[in-house]
Parts: sequence; structure tokens; C-alpha cells
Amino acid sequence: METEIENNHKKETAQPLDKFDIDFLKKYGNGPYSTDIDELEKEIKKYARRVKKLCGVEDSDTGLSAPGKWNLKSDILMKMTEEPLHVAYCTSIMNPNTEQAKYAVKLSGTLKVLIVGLDDGVSPTDIEEGTRVGITRMKPKIQIPLPPKIHPDASLLTVKEKPDVTYNDIGGYKEQIQMVREVVELPMLHPEKFVALGVDPPKGILFYGPPGTGKTLIARAVANRTDACFIRVNGTQLIYRRTGGGAAMVRHIFKMAKSKKACILFFDEIDAVGGARSFDVASGYNEVQHTMMEIAYQLDGFDSRGNIKVLMATNRPDTLDPALLRPGRIDRKVEFGLPDLEGRTQIFKIQAKNMSCERGVRFELLARMCPNCTGADIRSVCTEAGVFAIRARRKFVKEKDFLDAINKVNMEYQKFSATPKYMIYN
Ligand code: ATP
Repeated sequence: METEIENNHKKETAQPLDKFDIDFLKKYGNGPYSTDIDELEKEIKKYARRVKKLCGVEDSDTGLSAPGKWNLKSDILMKMTEEPLHVAYCTSIMNPNTEQAKYAVKLSGTLKVLIVGLDDGVSPTDIEEGTRVGITRMKPKIQIPLPPKIHPDASLLTVKEKPDVTYNDIGGYKEQIQMVREVVELPMLHPEKFVALGVDPPKGILFYGPPGTGKTLIARAVANRTDACFIRVNGTQLIYRRTGGGAAMVRHIFKMAKSKKACILFFDEIDAVGGARSFDVASGYNEVQHTMMEIAYQLDGFDSRGNIKVLMATNRPDTLDPALLRPGRIDRKVEFGLPDLEGRTQIFKIQAKNMSCERGVRFELLARMCPNCTGADIRSVCTEAGVFAIRARRKFVKEKDFLDAINKVNMEYQKFSATPKYMIYN
């Protein structure tokens, strides 16, 4: 059997076979016609899952490699033989870029400042002012650069899985998508274009519009397209009872964003902390204003050609403080108004994509019947249509179900719709 396979293979490719090839051909036959590709793909996926499980996941925040690569025995040995390190922060560098470079480091938790050199294995390019480092105790030297210390609450805000939304999942808003791509995607994927022109790309964008028009959706789509780390912060998560708590959290979030290769920082419902300053000293808004000023300060503190882009979303653009929105900070504002007929038709098609509908549902007609609806309203129409179909014990949704659902959503949910309230700010 083996020789037969080898002979056949040699005739076709004139290549010698190794053991893996022979096993493969024994199992799946000699050629693409006899190979069960589906089965093979399933098996590949199964093995990939197993490899992933065995290797574990790399923790990018702590710098820990995947558990599969850990060598616990050598770690225990190292712990016994090597001395523990002091954690310190490099405060200044004397004679940088020379062989006699010295580093002033402040030991963490004390007021002690030491002047130290670098250990043999440490490259001078790894140490900058503000870097967290490990210092040997006996003859103080910088032994290792450490990742920045990030508050656990801030690290929880990182969206670990890559968002699965693409631009194709957004109906309408062509101009808005185009503008977001120019401001966020282009500088991240092709920074050289801006360098060649000598132009600084905008640091961020404000999305504003009624609730449910797809502001969050587009932020997720950009994160998907750029492969950047996606940090999502809700304005309310920055409100702390303790004075300075919100501002400290903002500092931690920006520190974490700077430590990533590329990062999209999305502040949803920014009006919770970005409101215009008032002179009412006694009110609790004072603390909120500190948080807002910290965001403005942090926006000044990074390079617009860098790999951090800040996106903000709000339903109340009129309440935001002008300091936050001045040119040089968040200077692009993109409105997500109510979608037009074409947009609504597309949203209907997108939302009904995974539903089993009868043939020939006239989505344009449905879109015409929802003149003042947002994307979220259309989504709820589709869900209601599904519920009507289930109630009628059918396995597919008819056009009539959609029409009934539109009646229900338009008539009943209108009382709760926030769109008219938003429209008065326009
Ligand atoms: P809020 O201001 O309340 O945070 P939002 O504008 O961020 O609302 P999203 O969370 O992006 O709204 O949208 C809610 C849901 O509505 C989405 O998950 C999506 O299913 C649907 N949706 C909204 N707009 C669109 C759109 N343009 N295309 C497709 N689906 C949409």
C-alpha cells in the first residue's frame, strides 16, 4: 500500500515523500478529488483549538507569555539563586546616549533616589524618563525594564476579543464612515502619507446624534479594521465619590493606551463627565469637571501621529465643554442623524440577514413606513417580526409580520423614543 502511494505521488510531483505525507495520503487519498476538504478543515480547526488551549493566551497587560511557554522549574531555581529586585521609576537620565550615562531612579514606596547604571543585558534604548524598572539590591543597577503599573479597573476596560463588526454591518452613513476612515484608519494604517505632507492628523472624533444610530457600532468597526487594541469607557465609569478618583482613572486609561502598539480609546456617553464648567462650587459637578479637565490635559499629552486615536460619543453635544472640543483636541465632529430612506433599507437588509424570511420581502417599502426610525428601532422591528412569526408557529418571517411589527414599534414605542428630545438640540 505504502509503495503504491509513493509511486503514484512520484509520478505526479517527482518529490520524495516524508512520513507525514504518507500518513496524510493513507488517510485522505492521493489527490484533491478524493480528499474530503470539509472533513480536513474540521480536523484542522480541531487541532488549532487544541494547540490554542495547550499554549494558553498571552497576557499583554502584565507582559506574561502564554502559560504553555512557562518554565516553572527554572523560575523556582531562579527565585532561589537570584536576589529579589526593588521596583523604581527612572526620574532623569544624565549624559544620555553616551557610555557614561547614569540614571536617577526613585524607589517605589520610599523617598529614596539613587543614581545607578545599567546591567549588562539592558539596552539604553529601553529606558526613558518615567520607565518602571527593577533594581538590584546589593549593587544597585537597572536589571530589567518593567511594564507600566496599570490600575486593575483600567485594564478591565480593554475589550479582549477583536470586535466582529465590519463597515458592511453598518447601513447608510456613507459620508460619516468615509470621514472616520480618513481620520482614524488612514493615520494608523498609512502614517507615512501624513509625514510626507507634513500634516498632523486629528487626534480624535466626536460622534453625536440620537440614541441608537450606530455610533458605538462604527467605533467597533474601526477597531476591527485597524487591528488596534480597543478600550471602551463609559462616561459613568469615570464618576467616583472620592475626590480625584475620576481624574486618576483617566490617567491610568491613557497610560494603558500609550503602552499598546496601537489603540482606539472610545469614550461612550461622554456627556456624563464632559459637561460645561459651572461656577457652582458646592455642587458635586466640581469633581466631574476635574475628570473632564484631565481628559483635555491627556489629549494634549500625546502625539497626533502616534497610534492612539480617541473617539467620543454623546447624545447631548450642546452640553459639552468647549475646552474638550477645541481644535487640537477633539476637532472633528461627525453627526449621526436619522438615516435616510436608502440607509434605512440597508439597515433592514443587514438586520434581516440572519433571519429566515420568505422570498421577496420589500425592504424598501418597510423602510418607507419607518420615516423617523433609528437603526436600533429597525432592529427592534425585526425582532418583533420574528416574535410574530414564532407566535404564528411558522419557521420563517413573512412581510406581514414586518408590517405588524412596524405598527407595534411605531405606535407603542414612540412614547419612549428619545429621538424627538434629541432633535430639539439641533
Ligand atoms: P447610544 O447613543 O444610546 O449609545 P448608539 O448610537 O451608540 O446609541 P449603537 O449601540 O451603535 O447606538 O446601536 C444599537 C444597535 O442598533 C446596534 O447594535 C445595531 O444592531 C443597530 N444599529 C444602529 N444603527 C445601525 C446602522 N446604521 N446599521 C446597522 N445597525 C444599526
